[in-house]
Amino acid sequence: MDSLETLNALVDADRWIERVRGQKSQLPELKELGVLESEMKSVASQLSELNEAMLPIKAELSGATSLVIQMTERRQELEHRLAAPSATPKELVAVQTELDHVNTQLNYAQSSEVEYFLELEPMELELESVSERAKEMVARRNELRESVAELSATLDEELNALVQGRVPLIENVPTPLRDLYERARSNVGGGVGAARVVSGRCEGCHIELSPLDVDRLKKTTESNLMPCPECGRLLLP
Ligand SMILES: [Zn+2]
Repeated sequence: MDSLETLNALVDADRWIERVRGQKSQLPELKELGVLESEMKSVASQLSELNEAMLPIKAELSGATSLVIQMTERRQELEHRLAAPSATPKELVAVQTELDHVNTQLNYAQSSEVEYFLELEPMELELESVSERAKEMVARRNELRESVAELSATLDEELNALVQGRVPLIENVPTPLRDLYERARSNVGGGVGAARVVSGRCEGCHIELSPLDVDRLKKTTESNLMPCPECGRLLLP
């Protein structure tokens, strides 16, 4: 095996590793999870806004309800007193006056109660439907998290095997070329440290080489590979 062949075998292995890493970071499930999680945030704030808006109306409703109970009890008391045989005419007039007043208040409290109730009803329906949606979202999120964990574990296993398989390949590459390649590789942040040139473009960064560089490339030998002037990957002749 000449040194260029050994390098090519290493580059192929690194391409595979890159591909699997790319798969892992671009899982459709991961993307869906990201979208879902941001939707969940907006649903959560929708829920808290609704609850907050309902709070004062609920307080008014419960105030109106207690007033209705209170006034109903008072009315019963007054009606008993009106019916009592011992009452004097003066007392009867006073009781009747209070009863009229209580009836007015009771009517008012009852109609307020209905108003608050009607105001709350559509909000409660909305709350119910948003909560239902939130529940579905939580279930889907759990499913997605599980799938992402499973797929990532499988891809990690695959990656481990590929990284281990790379060890003998790198040992096959002669030292000066290996160092050159590893340096180019670390300059591009890991991944693949060499690239082919296809239609005058570096396959690593897709930059078109100048005619001068194309000429230089033609003259390179395996012991003297040139780097891409843009990304620094070794250009494979
Ligand atoms: Zn390049």
